Amino acid sequence: VYVEELTREASLELLARAGVGRLACAKEGQPYVVPVSFVLHRPPGGDPCLFGFTTPGQKVDWMRANPLVCLEWDEVGAPDCWTSVVALGCYEELTGDDPETEGGGRELALRLLGRHAEWWEPGSAARAAAVHRSRAEAFHPIYYRVHIDQVTGHRAVPGPGG
Ligand SMILES: Cc1cc2nc3c(=O)[nH]c(=O)nc-3n(C[C@H](O)[C@H](O)[C@H](O)COP(=O)(O)OP(=O)(O)OC[C@H]3O[C@@H](n4cnc5c(N)ncnc54)[C@H](O)[C@@H]3O)c2cc1C
Repeated sequence: VYVEELTREASLELLARAGVGRLACAKEGQPYVVPVSFVLHRPPGGDPCLFGFTTPGQKVDWMRANPLVCLEWDEVGAPDCWTSVVALGCYEELTGDDPETEGGGRELALRLLGRHAEWWEPGSAARAAAVHRSRAEAFHPIYYRVHIDQVTGHRAVPGPGG
């Protein structure tokens, strides 16, 4: 098996069509990873970022305490045939419609996430789980952006022997 490095551009293209990945955050040295839906946004002339939404809970509490996050996506066909992308970035909560913010704010996040038909489903599932755990809190989705500082991609391809 060969493992080749993907270019930054190829890695971003994979994130653009990924839809769901694993978001890692850390608090006081303890890592925490959960699957989340996201949309890649590439403002003309600006740095790429990811938009997502979340229900209130542990990951938001932790990202507020420490905004440095990592997002991972992978596709595994076989032990010698897989692709993965890892992005390091910084969490920013979108609290309002701030047209002055580069790339837009909450309004833009809503518009981009709304394009994906299934984007709301996991949030509903998370809410159902929260209700199941007898949490009385109201459902207030929080929109956020992850500014991508670094992105790398690896791809495994079968060697000549198969
Ligand atoms: C395919 C997919 C896409 C998803 N997309 C989103 C999204 O876009 N936005 C969003 O908010 N949520 C999404 N979820 C749900 C998400 O993974 C979390 O379960 C949820 O957001 C709650 O996270 P929290 O940190 O707020 O947990 P809390 O409700 O605060 O609960 C924390 C406790 O629950 C456990 N826990 C939390 N999540 C999981 C999990 N997924 N699996 C096992 N244990 C868990 C933790 O270990 C911890 O003990 C998605 C889930 C899936 C499977």
